[in-house]
Amino acid sequence: MSKLLLIYAGGTIGMMRHKDGHLVPFDFNRLLSHIPELELLPHRIDTVQVEKPIDSSDVRFHHWVELARIIDRHYYDYEGFVILHGTDTMAYTASALSFMLENLSKPVVLTGSQLPIGDLRTDAKENIITSLEIAGKYENGRPLVPEVSLYFEYKLFRGNRTVKVSSEHFNAFDSPNYPPLAEAGVEIYFNRDLILPPRKDIFRIFTDLSDKLAVLKIHPGITPAYFKLIGEIPDLRAVIIETYGSGNAPRLPWLQEEIRRAVDSGIHVIGITQCMRGKVLPGRYETGRHLYEAGVIPGSDLTLEAAMTKTAYLLGKDLPHKAFRQAFMQPLRGELTALE
Ligand code: ASP
Repeated sequence: MSKLLLIYAGGTIGMMRHKDGHLVPFDFNRLLSHIPELELLPHRIDTVQVEKPIDSSDVRFHHWVELARIIDRHYYDYEGFVILHGTDTMAYTASALSFMLENLSKPVVLTGSQLPIGDLRTDAKENIITSLEIAGKYENGRPLVPEVSLYFEYKLFRGNRTVKVSSEHFNAFDSPNYPPLAEAGVEIYFNRDLILPPRKDIFRIFTDLSDKLAVLKIHPGITPAYFKLIGEIPDLRAVIIETYGSGNAPRLPWLQEEIRRAVDSGIHVIGITQCMRGKVLPGRYETGRHLYEAGVIPGSDLTLEAAMTKTAYLLGKDLPHKAFRQAFMQPLRGELTALE
């Protein structure tokens, strides 16, 4: 019988209604009492909760470090891990963990729900039970999904490709630029060719994320004041610019100058797209060329969640600019499509 570890980090899934009507996290044991079906799974399931379960909108880097440490501590005791997490920032946490868990060769599945487990119409049970099934799926001693993934409403996605797309529908997540790794119907169908192979090197965690970064969204009417405000952040080391379409931005002389100045001063400036689907293609348009000529790093089809957490991870590695740029542009955990 294989052993799985179910980790409770918080989120709606384990919340109850406070007397004022709003939802607050509650005790893990009460959550478990709502799913006696866990006993029926052909796995031994142990449970652990983080020190203080949170509404995931409160997530900070130290919460990711805590989750990485729990997995590290128990890595060789379990065949797979399932993390119950709030949906608001689940895509960020899944992306962050995909980088922090280096040389992963076991399944780590994040899931949650739109309705608390105690609600009659809850989506929590199906999400938890199928996530556990996926985490425990092995063939000839090899796990089927040895990467950080996110399961929600019958679909399993690569974690660092996900975004939260709905605050009201049960299918709250999508992976706009990468197909699902698996789909659950009567059976669970795995898209084996799309799943990363297990890593051969020894598993370890990297927890030294850096928060010396900022995200800037290009919009019509953008002013120098907005750009300057970001430039005033002390010790800033990276800026992620959400550009239009395939990597474009207005050709305002002050904007071009600010970007060039930032790059020349050693700040890593990264360009991703505001579009839900597609990627940054440097040089496709005149309105994009000036960015990449100034040294902006093209982020291909990265989601904001993956771009932000990858930046925090690579900044933590303290790489010289050229090595940072190279590492950023190649897929480290399948998070982006490499540009030709
Ligand atoms: N605010 C909640 C959270 O992210 C929402 C949810 O879990 O669905 O923790």
